[in-house]
Amino acid sequence: MKILVINAGSSSLKYQLIDMDNKSVMAKGLCERIGIEGSNLQHTCVLKGLDKKKIEKPMKDHGDAIQMVIDALVDPEIGVISSMDEIGAVGHRVVHGAEEFTDSTIITEAVMKALDKCTPLAPLHNPPNIIGINACKKIMPDTPMVGVFDTAFHQTMPAKAFMYALPYEIYEEDRIRKYGFHGTSHKYVSQQAVKFLGKDAKDLKIITCHLGNGSSISAVDGGRCVDTSMGFTPLDGVPMGTRTGSMDPAVMTFLMNKGMTAAEIDNLVNKKSGVAGVSGVSSDFRDLTAAADDGNERARLALDMFMYQVKKYIGAYAAAMGGVDAVVFTAGVGENDAVTRKGIVSGLEFMGIKIDDAKNETRGTIDISAEDATVKTLVIPTDEEMMIAIDTERLVSE
Ligand code: AMP
Repeated sequence: MKILVINAGSSSLKYQLIDMDNKSVMAKGLCERIGIEGSNLQHTCVLKGLDKKKIEKPMKDHGDAIQMVIDALVDPEIGVISSMDEIGAVGHRVVHGAEEFTDSTIITEAVMKALDKCTPLAPLHNPPNIIGINACKKIMPDTPMVGVFDTAFHQTMPAKAFMYALPYEIYEEDRIRKYGFHGTSHKYVSQQAVKFLGKDAKDLKIITCHLGNGSSISAVDGGRCVDTSMGFTPLDGVPMGTRTGSMDPAVMTFLMNKGMTAAEIDNLVNKKSGVAGVSGVSSDFRDLTAAADDGNERARLALDMFMYQVKKYIGAYAAAMGGVDAVVFTAGVGENDAVTRKGIVSGLEFMGIKIDDAKNETRGTIDISAEDATVKTLVIPTDEEMMIAIDTERLVSE
């Protein structure tokens, strides 16, 4: 089966066409500047090994964008299929599934209504996801569609992990609680780790560290997420590129009392903080490492703060699960940054976590554990699109 994976943002739309028979990407691309001047589609035909092609054409809305994607996919030169009918199903990334969605789901009218109910929890992200689904449904009315939620994998967390110690009525009225994000990535890499270790998921306690521009850590016990570091929003947890991560919430009220508005604080803690805010250098770990190596103390501090917090989550989640069998690193930093990986795990030898320095430096190595480690440390590239395609195939085949 061929599955089209769609990730719709407010003015952009990413896509991949995946052949599930051999789990390969046939074509992929990105529509940019939808609804604004300069709309363009960047399409890569992976199957024929062609270079990326940029097609500039006005796209007034997501419907136009999807139509352009389909046109590119069936194009005799840069396309990979002969007609739209070859697409067996479409998998849509949806950011927030709230408590409504504990798994990916076939999109029905009832699901569309339930999605609207989740929107207040992700006012910036869910609306473009919904627009993308509607646009696709119009153009491909007979093709089954599946929604895959960033939050769904975390819905197995017990109440003691997801509740905030606010008055209970606040949870009941507004569903304010920890949801967690990056769920599709945590699910994918934890499943890949299970495969790699060749054991039954139910026998494994895994800590997955998705470390990129946004970062989150999850505790996965027996294949089910039992805790995660992001919270009500993706602001919580470890410091990130430009986000604070957790801090005393009273800092917010202190700043408000000094005259900052809610919107200004929102901007400060999401866009101006994190390793970029502390270092004053960059949100990019490559820039930070270079600056720290050059003697920039604030860049060094930002990296130290990041590594310290990730390390603390690993310790906390091992305690929460009563042990850990494997720690998995993924995403931009987790997959590529050997120095940061080393900084995070050093000092955890007492828990049996120990990496081999040579393996840690080698790209593409999955198992970077030292011979005498009792806990495996793995590097597994994430693939959220593949996870969306796997779930989509599972649901439409049921
Ligand atoms: P992601 O959000 O998963 O795309 O990750 C993006 C982040 O990964 C960038 O901001 C960089 O900080 C980091 N990154 C990517 N490649 C490297 C690398 N080779 N070394 C260190 N950090 C990297």
